[in-house]
Amino acid sequence: MAKNPLGVTRNVHFNLRLKKLENVDDIPERWRGTPIASFIGAHNFDQPIEPSGKPELLIATCIEFRFTPKIPSMYAYVIRRASGRLVGSEFTMVYTMSQGVKHVVLVGHDDCGMTKVSQKRDAMIQTLKEQGWSEKRAEEYVANEAGRYAIDDEVDSLESEFYRLLELFPNVEIAPLFVSLNSHRLYLPTWYMEYLNRPTVPGKANR
Ligand SMILES: [Zn+2]
Repeated sequence: MAKNPLGVTRNVHFNLRLKKLENVDDIPERWRGTPIASFIGAHNFDQPIEPSGKPELLIATCIEFRFTPKIPSMYAYVIRRASGRLVGSEFTMVYTMSQGVKHVVLVGHDDCGMTKVSQKRDAMIQTLKEQGWSEKRAEEYVANEAGRYAIDDEVDSLESEFYRLLELFPNVEIAPLFVSLNSHRLYLPTWYMEYLNRPTVPGKANR
């Protein structure tokens, strides 16, 4: 269970920063009729996805064991990494795009372990020592890698990763979404709505 049994919309840390997706009209227009809308429909509207047999979507999300994307086989590539960020997995992303993927969902979630790396540090060092690593080597490894994986805040991390990927891959549609571990429903970060209202959003005129 998530720490907050009421879910993200009742959580003061998240509730003003996420927008509900309760019906099709809540889905940004540029995503309607795309695999991104189908992904939202599967989680929020009980609309199972009919796989086309071709890879239509790349799903990038955290390793989190309390969440499994509701997708059938023969539909999407999935990259799961601690925190859900794709730092170090850009090559994998390019591969999926070369196979025809034009839509990407980045799925953040509440209560992410990567916001608590400093609390997990000692246990991780101990784990490495149990694998025969010296204390010094284990400490250095955890210290070095923690910087790549740790995040301060789940919603802010999603935002910075969205902009980082947009700069690398400006011609693929990237959808930042946020899943509540309690309900497995998807939400839209309010910062993305502000992004869409900018006059300079790529592809705005022809979608
Ligand atoms: Zn996580």
